Order: sequence, then structure tokens, then C-alpha cells
Amino acid sequence: MDDADVIIFNTCCVRENAEDRLFGKLGEAKKFKEDKGTIIAIGGCMMQEKQITDKIKRSYPYVDIIFGTHTLENLAKDIYFALKEKKKIEDVIDIEGEIHEGTPIVRGDNIKASVAIMNGCNNFCTYCIVPYVRGRERSRKPGDIINEVEELAKKGYKEIMLLGQNVNSYLVSEREKDNNISYEVIVQGKEMIVNSFATLLKAIDEIEGIERIRFISPHPKDFTDDVIEAIANSKHICHLIHLPLQSGSTNVLKRMNRKYSKEQYLKLVDRIRRLMPDSTFTTDIIVGFPGETEEDFEDTLDVVKKVKFEQIFMFIYSIRVGTPAEKMEDQVPEEIKHKRFDRLKALAEKQIAEKNETYVGTTQKVLVEGYSKTNEKILTGRNEANVIVNFKGDKSLIGKMCDVKIIGNHIWYLEGCCDKIQE
Ligand code: SAH
Ligand code: SF4
Repeated sequence: MDDADVIIFNTCCVRENAEDRLFGKLGEAKKFKEDKGTIIAIGGCMMQEKQITDKIKRSYPYVDIIFGTHTLENLAKDIYFALKEKKKIEDVIDIEGEIHEGTPIVRGDNIKASVAIMNGCNNFCTYCIVPYVRGRERSRKPGDIINEVEELAKKGYKEIMLLGQNVNSYLVSEREKDNNISYEVIVQGKEMIVNSFATLLKAIDEIEGIERIRFISPHPKDFTDDVIEAIANSKHICHLIHLPLQSGSTNVLKRMNRKYSKEQYLKLVDRIRRLMPDSTFTTDIIVGFPGETEEDFEDTLDVVKKVKFEQIFMFIYSIRVGTPAEKMEDQVPEEIKHKRFDRLKALAEKQIAEKNETYVGTTQKVLVEGYSKTNEKILTGRNEANVIVNFKGDKSLIGKMCDVKIIGNHIWYLEGCCDKIQE
């Protein structure tokens, strides 16, 4: 921050601790504003919450620019006016703003790239702030997505992560308005029809040069058979599925408004495994949702034991102002939430360690990303299940897909050796 002319904070409001960090950082930034007049801008989801922008204007008056999730493309102009005319700028529009095409992107990586395909959420899970700050679901046009991925492939990118708050609801809202919605796209000179998430996956799978396709976050209730088939029949879509569970208790899931039960979730995992026996899963789990009993929590542990996730993103329930769960009376005491969190963490770590052991002796296809952060002589990459694999090798392997024999395992990575590149 001390070198910057402009400090930009990009915010997330999904959990309270992310919000708290912004206020801590704003305190730090004040010194730079006072010393050298540094321009301070804040954007992202928190700026779509009125009580937050009011608080910033009231308690942090030295902030120059507040911009929202649908005004990102104006940022250069906003900074220009803040610098030249010393103006305070508030550039937040309604959450229902259109998806803006053509904003230039500077990517921090030249092997893996994220591509947003849809925005917003219609689900209103009772704990979640996202529908209130990102608005209703809307999808990008298939042609714009295909063009972006083709451009990335031309530049040498190898892995694409398709992004959306409910990535598998792609074109669902559009189809509700017009049942016959369908787009013709040209992929590698071939005409294809895109009218759903499954058909979009099939089209992207045809793009030459892209070795791996991943997507987050799908909603289990919308994980249709055509999507499972599209993945199973694809050449490049990873068989690692991120399938947010949130809770293993049907009671809690009902009060969370997730629209699936414990049994339906487990059946979905079975369906995916039947078609793709090599599939692996990661998940998100919230611990300590209001009213969660010991029995409910044990249901969550039960699903974790049954599915054996590759990785679990675990969150302690955090009250979000304006959501239905904020008003629920039976909030779980902090101490119990933390104890349950620790139990889940211990189980997850035990399972991950056991899983990593089963990799030893196998050969994994690894997309090499670069040198390891902690050792410049060691290359690092990931296998299809997104597990980190470190091995000794020449820098010419960076950006290539290699066959790596696994010779050791650690909790957060596998150790391998490689003598062959898979072209
Ligand atoms: N659309 C995705 C999730 C996006 S938010 C889905 O439906 O799975 C990312 C994760 O943050 C969620 O999966 C959830 O586990 C967590 N999360 C959301 N709101 C939360 C809250 N109030 N407290 C704790 N964790 C929360
Ligand atoms: Fe939030 Fe639920 Fe929408 Fe995911 S599906 S963004 S958890 S409301």
C-alpha cells in the first residue's frame, strides 16, 4: 500500500470475517491517504449493501470511490475523475444490472483462466446474502463465452474454470422466459447448438488446446442427467465435481431452503459415480446453522464418511443481516459451533490423508503450473482431482501435461517423479 497511487479493495460479503477484514484494512489505508493523498476505492459485493455504504460514508469519509458489482467497467473513468477533479464518487447501480461484455481483463496466470458464464442467484438459501447483492440469475451469451475461451486457447491457456453463483443454472432463467431459446455457435469451424449448461460444456469441450475444464459452483438440485452425461462423454471436463452439501441433515437442509434431502444428495453422488467410477468430489459445509442439533451435525459427518470428499471447504455459520436465518431464534452458541467445526476438520483431514496414501504408486496426469513457492528446484502442478503434485523437473515442462509417478504423500500435496511428457 505504501507504494500505491491508488488502493483498490475488492470485497466479499458472504461471511462476516471477510467484511471485518475490509474495515481493518481501511484503517491501515488512512495513514497513506493522510501522508500522500492516495486514492482509495472500494468495490465488490459489500458495496451492494446499503448499510455498508452508509457506514463507509459516515465513518471512513476519506474513501474516494465506491463502485458496485455492475459498474466495474467504469472504474478507469471513476479513478480519472477522482485524481483529476478530486471528486468523491459513488458508482453503485441496482443489483439487476446487465452483464457487461468487453471489459479488458489482466490475468495473473498464463496456464489457468477463470471465465464467468452466469451471474446472480434465484435460490435464496436462508443463510446467504448473495441473492440480495448479486440480483437474479442471468447468463452470458454462448457466443461470447466460446469466443473468450477460444482466445484463451490461442494464447496458450490449458485449463478453464467456468464460474457462476449457480453455474449449472446456465440459461435456466432465459429458458423460463422463452422455452425455445437456443443459440447456434461455431466451434472449431463446426456448427453447434447451445441451449443449456450441458450443451455449453459440450461446445467448450471441442475447443482445441484446452486440456482441462472445471466449473464452480453447481447446485445439487439442478445437477441434471444431461450434465452428468456431458461430463462422462467429454474429452476434457474433469471428473472432479464440486458439489456443495452445506449440511447432511434433511431437517437443516429444509430450513436452509436447499431443496434437496440427505438421501437425494447421496443418490446424486451415486448417479455420478455409476457413470464415472473415477469421479471425485469436493464440497462446502456450514457448521452451526441455527437450530443444528448434535444429531443433525452427526448426519453431516455421516455424509462426509460416505462420500469421502477430496477436499472440504468448511465454514462456521455467520449471521448475514437481512437474511431469513438472521431472524431464527435458536442460534447455536459460538463454543458449540467451534467444537463441531474442529470435529469436522479432524475427520476431513483424516480422510484426505487416507486418500493421499492411495495415490502412492499410481501415475497421475499433472498440468505443470510452475515452480513450488517454497522450493525453486521443484515443479508444482495439479492432477485431475486438483491435488497438488510436486516433483523434480525441468522448467520446459511448465504449461505441459505430464505423467507423474506418485512416490510420497503429505497432507496438502503429493510427491512425484516424472520421466515422460504427455503431448
Ligand atoms: N452458490 C454456491 C455458494 C456460494 S457462497 C452454493 O450454493 O453452494 C460460498 C459458500 O459460502 C457457500 O457454499 C457456503 O458454504 C458459505 N456460506 C454462504 N453464506 C454463509 C454464511 N452466512 N455463513 C457461513 N458460510 C456461508
Ligand atoms: Fe447463496 Fe444458496 Fe444462491 Fe449459493 S444457491 S449463492 S448458497 S443463495
